[in-house]
Amino acid sequence: MSQSSKKEPSFRKSVDILFDRAVRQMNISQGLANKIKVCNSTYTVRFGVKLRGEIHTFTGYRSVHSEHAEPVKGGIRYSMGVSQDEVEALAALMTYKCAIVEVPFGGSKGGLRINPKEWDEDELERITRRFSYELIKRDLINPSQNVPAPDMGTGEREMAWIADQYHRMNTTDIDARACVTGKPLNAGGIRGRTEATGRGVQYALRDFFRHPADLKIAGLEGKLAGKRIIVQGLGNVGYHAAKFLQEEDDALITGVIEFDGGIYNPNGIDIETLRHHMNEHGGVKEFPHGKHFENGAVLLEQECDILIPAALEGVINLENADRVKTKLIIEAANGPVTAGADEILRKKGVVIIPDMYANAGGVTVSYFEWVKNLSHIRFGRMQRRQEEARQQLIIEALEKMTGREFPDELKGAFVSGADELTLVRSGLDDTMRGAYASMREKWHVKRSDDPDFDLRTAAYMISIQRVADSYRALGL
Ligand code: GLU
Repeated sequence: MSQSSKKEPSFRKSVDILFDRAVRQMNISQGLANKIKVCNSTYTVRFGVKLRGEIHTFTGYRSVHSEHAEPVKGGIRYSMGVSQDEVEALAALMTYKCAIVEVPFGGSKGGLRINPKEWDEDELERITRRFSYELIKRDLINPSQNVPAPDMGTGEREMAWIADQYHRMNTTDIDARACVTGKPLNAGGIRGRTEATGRGVQYALRDFFRHPADLKIAGLEGKLAGKRIIVQGLGNVGYHAAKFLQEEDDALITGVIEFDGGIYNPNGIDIETLRHHMNEHGGVKEFPHGKHFENGAVLLEQECDILIPAALEGVINLENADRVKTKLIIEAANGPVTAGADEILRKKGVVIIPDMYANAGGVTVSYFEWVKNLSHIRFGRMQRRQEEARQQLIIEALEKMTGREFPDELKGAFVSGADELTLVRSGLDDTMRGAYASMREKWHVKRSDDPDFDLRTAAYMISIQRVADSYRALGL
């Protein structure tokens, strides 16, 4: 965990501090609050795999934070930074994330202490299958109890191996494919899942920019177009968020921070060109269209309108929070701002769109994938052509009634029925807007008494209340 040397609590404690801050503003018993806060269980597995002529022992975790709704949901991370503290913090965030976007899952998270770059594809497959085997036999991967997904260091490929491993161990389970999400299309995945978290960040920002009153609190105004954005991490989430914001909203990506330094260009960096450069050269170094900074983290302190931390937890901390000069932070990563840094930034008037909402696009589309797997049919398959036939009929009726031709340039868009990708995007947009509406309502009501009241506390309060209501309904 890339935290500062100043005394800072662990990631899990940091999440707990933010949780407690919200509970203090709620009318909820301490007993129930504690029950919600703690992680229900964390399973640690150590297993050996024979590779390159010797046995290598790996350590993995699957933590279940809250089972108020089942299955529990959350990704599996492959990184050397994985620890019990980290998976527990991430599992807790999954509980609050699912609650804020009204996805009917509890929270869970998994991790394997491994540097995936050290192993080739065949080796990774063997390691993943062995890890999955340990989790599957304990129902820690199961379509009705615990459904993993990709996270840092994992993607479609690993999810396909997990799905296949589950299928091999449960050959008669007709719902086997729903045991994991984020799968490739040909293994039961859904269109739009890979880019879903980045897409969700874009939709969240678009919605923020629909509300001039909210922009004013952040000291911003106008449209997303032309706003200066710095992105930390051009992995799956950061790349898609930056790409969509640049290509579709005309935002200016002035800075990109990666593991081998930062690139800064006040006139904007073309994300596709940079990504291409990274694929060719293995990093951002020597990118010709911007100034390179050896220590990329200095760009977190560069002036901009919007800062998007989309990599690790704890990158904005007690050490650097004071020097952060942005107006708005949207947390595309999980836990990028520590509890201490959050306090400092709040006092400075920086608005933070919190992780549990900002990066919920991934789990939202995971939910759609899980539903698709359980219903065994692609979204839109039954109604798409029927919708088109009805629209065609309307065109014909309009032409008949007016004696004029329907404009050709509008025909295509008017007639076309919704396919799976269109429906996934519409469902994601609706989810992000709905969640933001409930957060901002609480934010504004509370701010009228306390001008320091922030969006993160609003998000926690709504999530905690929803989880508390489910526990009460379960008779706790
Ligand atoms: N790992 C992602 C997250 O942190 C996705 C989780 C999921 O789809 O279950 O939200």
